[in-house]
Formats: sequence, structure tokens, C-alpha cells
Amino acid sequence: MIKHALSVTRQADFAAWYQDVIAEADLAEESGVRGCMVIKPWGYGIWERIQKVMDAAIKDAGVQNAYFPLFIPLSFFEKEADHVDGFAKEMAVVTHHRLIADGKGKLVPDPEAKLEEPLIVRPTSETVIGNAMSRWVQSWRDLPLKVNQWANVVRWEMRTRMFLRTSEFLWQEGHTAHADRDDAMAETLRALEMYRSFAEDVLAMPVIAGEKPENERFPGAVATYSIEAMMQDGKALQAGTSHYLGTGFAEAAGIRYQDKDGGHSLCHTTSWGTSTRMIGGVIMTHGDDDGLRCPPRIAPHQIVIVPMLRDNDEDAAILDYCRDLETKLKALDAFREPVRVLLDASANKAQTKRWGWVKKGAPIIVEIGPRDVAGGNVAVIRRDRLYQESGKLDTAFVAKDAFVASAVATLTEIQANLHAEAKERLHSNIRRDVTDLKAHFAGDEKFVGWVEVQWSRPTGAALDKIVEQLKALKLTMRNTPLDAAPADGACFFTGEPAVERVLIGRTY
Ligand code: AMP
Repeated sequence: MIKHALSVTRQADFAAWYQDVIAEADLAEESGVRGCMVIKPWGYGIWERIQKVMDAAIKDAGVQNAYFPLFIPLSFFEKEADHVDGFAKEMAVVTHHRLIADGKGKLVPDPEAKLEEPLIVRPTSETVIGNAMSRWVQSWRDLPLKVNQWANVVRWEMRTRMFLRTSEFLWQEGHTAHADRDDAMAETLRALEMYRSFAEDVLAMPVIAGEKPENERFPGAVATYSIEAMMQDGKALQAGTSHYLGTGFAEAAGIRYQDKDGGHSLCHTTSWGTSTRMIGGVIMTHGDDDGLRCPPRIAPHQIVIVPMLRDNDEDAAILDYCRDLETKLKALDAFREPVRVLLDASANKAQTKRWGWVKKGAPIIVEIGPRDVAGGNVAVIRRDRLYQESGKLDTAFVAKDAFVASAVATLTEIQANLHAEAKERLHSNIRRDVTDLKAHFAGDEKFVGWVEVQWSRPTGAALDKIVEQLKALKLTMRNTPLDAAPADGACFFTGEPAVERVLIGRTY
């Protein structure tokens, strides 16, 4: 039996395994502040990679970055009733701007320094960006207006989990204003497709893109779309959302434009966001019992060179050999960017370094000892296939030049392998033949994936009833896949003619 690097396996306890990967891969740690995490350099490095690639896609779509205030006046929220209702329970509020000593050694809010109007720490920025848009948009010539912000937001979440759901998280939020519904809807779907292809191609995380049922809409939205990924325990993770907001937010903020005939119309707006939650998705999609496996496109270091130093006079030659390898690898391009290479000359033992990088999920680890230098070789470990059939660590000994010549192809192959593995898991775990949800999802921890059913898309009380039924089984509707086959039967819940298909599963 293989002795794995982590102390908990996925099979034994998926939740504990997830925490263990985060600790052992040095991604993040608890901060002591409720629901807020410290993102450590390797975890933040992954976020920086995500930002870099996503930011380029956002700009390619003609969206410009800008920055808006962290504090939003309460009255901005009060203008949109559904929006404030949806977020009220999660808002952190600033009420004072100064503290004073109470004479007993404590600092308390100074009653003299009470704010006239409370400020909300932004949970999302539709309201404050809408306020700016109302100044920026005057005529049809100003449209469409498309901005994006990279920022932190705060939602006072009751049950938090590192990366997946934190009280403070990092994200991007796109906000756009358009002349009409069609243009706004096209932008909503463009952002959704940007997220879908980003998840698939960059995170190697297969997803299903679709519309959220009415009960899962963003507060104040007319339609909400999501990408949903399947984690290795079969649960769903909503990994990104795109909202068509109709004219409600434009009305609240006064975003109006003069059309070509001189009349005044409200804009149709959209918003769309992805967050540090995606890192949690990557962990639970690609991690194994030895730690994280980082898809090469988001690995802060794609190739790590580990010299096997012995503190003797051979070390200098080993390091020279490693530096030459590093230079040659850094001259290469993979995924249209220079290959990211680290020479780990730190003082730790080679064995410790090797397992450190395995746990962090560096895609390729190259070890070099005196014999490799003498023979012109390198010893290569690939993180996507760590072991041979026999359970032995799979180390390939190859000529240094041959390794350099094949490095880019290997990174491309690792990216593709991780994607293919996860895609197979997603598609083989969506069942379309289930007639009894209770029996199918029996047992809290049983891995069952998702179920797709046909439904009549009921609204109001009929929908509430279905939501309650599902809730009793700890289930939710994920989305109605955009590329599902057309409905051709009866609604799973009501027996009426079905109009579309909907995915059901447990969720994070
Ligand atoms: P929303 O503005 O509610 O549509 O959220 C946009 C995206 O942010 C969601 O699709 C999630 O991926 C992510 N997200 C929402 N809440 C949290 C949270 N508490 N922690 C981390 N990510 C979150």
C-alpha cells in the first residue's frame, strides 16, 4: 500500500482532507478573525495567476478596470428593496469614526463621533457603481458602459470554510450598462461563457453553465446564470455567476440616457463575479491524497528544480548544472507565457523539498544529484501521475537536453490530463434516470453526484414547495444547463409538461 503524504485520505474524511491540503500545501491559514483567512504566498500566487489570465479576458471583452469605495452609504442599498433584503443579514456596518477611552482602560465608540448615516462595508458594488454610472451615462453614445473592479468584499457568512465561503473574500465584479435588454442579456451570457471557458481551459475544472432557478437568483436580479463544478465528493460548487439586472438597479441609481430621438430611457444593467472560491474548487477538483495538484496554467511555479545538496565540494557543480537548466527552461514559452521555473536552493533536505513541492502541487519536479550531473541527466517527477502501477514513486531519468526539449509538451499534457480526468468524473456522475430522489441521495456522505430531471419551471408557491421538498433531502437545484437536450416529457415534480431540464445535487 502507498504511504501518502497527507495524514487524511479523501475517502476517509473529505472535509478533513480539504483542510489538510490547505495546511500542507501552505495555501492559507485561520487568522483568528472570524471567517477571515490569511492567504499564504503559494495560495496568493495561485490567485495572482487567476487574476492575470482572467483580467486579460475581461479587457479583451472591452471592459475597463476601475476602483470604487469600500464603504457604501446605507441609503444606496435602501433604494433597491430586493437587493437590501437579500444582503441585510450579511452586512458589516460602520457607525462611528472615532473611539475614546472609557476611563476603565477600554476604548469605546465616541458618541460624539457617530456617523449621520451608517456606512456598509461593500458586500457587492452594484449600488455604488450604479451611482457613478448615473453621472457617467448621459446619451446613447455613452453606451455600453463596461467596468470591472478587483477588490475585497465582506459578507457576514454564518458557516465559513476557507476559500469556499469566507466573510471577507477577494473577487472581481464586472458591471455594465446597456441601451436595451438584448444588449444587456448578450453581455450577461458573454461573461458566463468567459467564466465557463476560464474554468475549463485555465483551471482544468469542467463546469455546467446554466440559469439559476428563480429562488436562487441574486437579490434584485431578473435572471442569474452560474457555472457549477462537481467536487470529488459529488457536491456542487457554484464557481461564478452572471446576472441580468433588468432596469431595477438603473431606476434606483438613476442611470438614464437620452436616445437618438431625444427621449429618456433607463439603462439595462448586468453584473458578474468570480472569487477566491475558485481556489477551493481547484483543490477539491484536482487534489489527491498527496496534496494539491496545480493545473500548470495557474501554478505559481510550473517546474521546480531540486538540487540534492550534501554540503560537500560537489554542491557547486550541482548548482551550476541546475542554474544552466533553469536558464534554458526560463527561455521557453508555455500557454503563450514564459515558463515559470524555481530553483529551490533552500537549506532543507532534498527529500523534504521534494514532498513539500508534491504537496503544493508543482506540476513538474526535477531532482538533480551528483550522478545526474556526471551523466548529463535529470530525474523528473510529474504531479499528475506520481506513482507507478506498483506503487513506487514514478521518477523518469532522462537526458537534460531531452527534458528541456519536451518540457512544454509535458506541461500541456498535464493540463489536459487533469481536465480530462475531472471531465470524466463530472459526466459519469450526472444521472438522468432517477425516479426517487430520497432513495438515490440516501445517506449523508454517500457519493452520488447530481441528478438531471425535466421540469415545468413552476413559480411562486409551487416553486417554494419543490424547494422545501428538496431542502428536506439537503438538496438544491443547481441550474438549468444551457446546452441540455430540449424537454420532451413530464415535469418530475408536478407532472405537467416539462419545459427544460434542471440539475439537482448537494452543494457547498
Ligand atoms: P454573487 O455576487 O453573489 O453573485 O457572487 C459572485 C460569486 O462570488 C459567486 O458565484 C461565488 O463564486 C463567489 N462568492 C459568493 N459568496 C462568497 C463567499 N462568502 N466566499 C467566497 N466566494 C463567494
